[in-house]
Amino acid sequence: MKKYQHFINGEYVDPLAGEWFETRNPYTGEVWAEIPKGDAADVDRAVQAAREAMYNGPFSKMNATARGKLLYKVGELLENHTQRLAELEVRDNGKLIAEMAGQLNYMPEFWRYYAGLADKVEGSVVPIDKPDHFAFKTREPVGVVGALAAWNSPLMFVAWKAAPAIAAGCSIVIKPSEYTSASALEFAEIIKEAGFPPGVFNVVTGFGQDAGAALVSHPDVAKISFTGSDTTGAKLYAVAAAQMKRVSMELGGKSPNIVFDDANLDAAASGAVSGIFAATGQTCIAGSRLMVHNRVKDEFTEKLLKLARTARLGDPMSYDTHIGPVATPPQYQKILDYIDIAKNEGANLLYGGSPASGGDLKGDQFVEPTIFSDVSNDMRIAQEEVFGPVLSILGFDDEEEAIQTGNDVVYGLAAGVWTQNIGRAIRMSQALRAGTVWVNTYRAVSYMMPFGGMKRSGLGRENGMEAIDEYLETKAVWINTSDEFPANPFVMR
Ligand code: NAD
Repeated sequence: MKKYQHFINGEYVDPLAGEWFETRNPYTGEVWAEIPKGDAADVDRAVQAAREAMYNGPFSKMNATARGKLLYKVGELLENHTQRLAELEVRDNGKLIAEMAGQLNYMPEFWRYYAGLADKVEGSVVPIDKPDHFAFKTREPVGVVGALAAWNSPLMFVAWKAAPAIAAGCSIVIKPSEYTSASALEFAEIIKEAGFPPGVFNVVTGFGQDAGAALVSHPDVAKISFTGSDTTGAKLYAVAAAQMKRVSMELGGKSPNIVFDDANLDAAASGAVSGIFAATGQTCIAGSRLMVHNRVKDEFTEKLLKLARTARLGDPMSYDTHIGPVATPPQYQKILDYIDIAKNEGANLLYGGSPASGGDLKGDQFVEPTIFSDVSNDMRIAQEEVFGPVLSILGFDDEEEAIQTGNDVVYGLAAGVWTQNIGRAIRMSQALRAGTVWVNTYRAVSYMMPFGGMKRSGLGRENGMEAIDEYLETKAVWINTSDEFPANPFVMR
């Protein structure tokens, strides 16, 4: 069995307390590796290395172009490891190989994008109104970054956080999810091979309540970049606030996917399926609230059911599988609990609704793709994130009601709109309170487009030009150009 080590200060090291925990394949149930059970001492070691790298080591003297070259090299080297790392992630979280290989094959672009951005961070001279002064603004790295991530797309989160952070000139300590730590540790080999000075990129593994909490509260960590549930996010936000740390938070969602009566219903049905059954529904942007205009609801529901019935459950490592197992036992139980909640609150179970087993399904973490109709917006199944393949269908009668119901939820991560009417598409994109609005498409993500949530879905943005701002501070510099002293030093200039 593979036994992993932390990656700290450019080398692989054992956890100081000498403890490991097991990681399990959610499909086969097999325990296939041991992961270091990091604690506050390991975190401190990594943060000190990151601090040294940022303020004293060779990285601190490296110019932005040189940083960009290193990031570019990561993208190039990663190209040679995408299939291996995708398979590793499938073994750890049970998501489909088609999905994870897609993510890994695309990932080098994220590193190269921020490679290109590294030396385009510029300050500016301000045409200052005060006489005898020259004033300018500079952008500086915020400091050591502590990054914590969820289990559903482990290496994608590493890229989304580490690439812009390093481009900005920060060093980083990453604490991956305890369910999916292996890929970040293996990815660190690429960082080493690219030639990063020690301490710029560190991975400490372990559980949220010990390694995670130690990272968030460490006084030398200036910025927390978190991806996970809103419940954990709110806790970490409070800890960070006490120390006035900067935070970005990519949290949960309950996204409306809204189908108008003028939509191409076949395309919308396909978009609805990809919104909720792709990745076994374990995606923060799941279109879990399907809102359908009442005039086309029956016709649309038929199309949706027809498509849902084609879903093949099975081995996530097979390219023929559409829906794999749920990633973790607690998540599996949570999904089944929400199915019961929906039944008890009077939603109409149209399809699925049970654990799936039999045939060649291995393990005990499969849930049938599940569709509830007659859901009203005040039901928990319409308001709370399930993070599984469970769809709620809500009806609406007009655009105003679609906006009102679409926005009537605490989250604001994403929304989908299906319509052939361009004016309506624009009106809806303006009215929906979500960080991303997709029109006649769903789940499109790019390194070029900012990604993040409004309301309880988070703070800040990842990807695009915006992401680098999350790792920068602005400094104002004033220079007196005269030799004069102020006439009255007791008042503000
Ligand atoms: P989680 O909140 O349970 O855990 C996320 C990370 O936080 C893990 O690394 C965990 O170890 C750590 N953690 C947990 N408790 C902690 C504590 N007390 N102190 C410090 N660290 C702690 O989330 P999860 O179950 O891994 O992921 C699922 C959630 O993530 C869903 O809500 C989903 O919507 C969200 N998510 C959001 C995005 C996004 O970009 N908006 C992307 C993927 C997942």
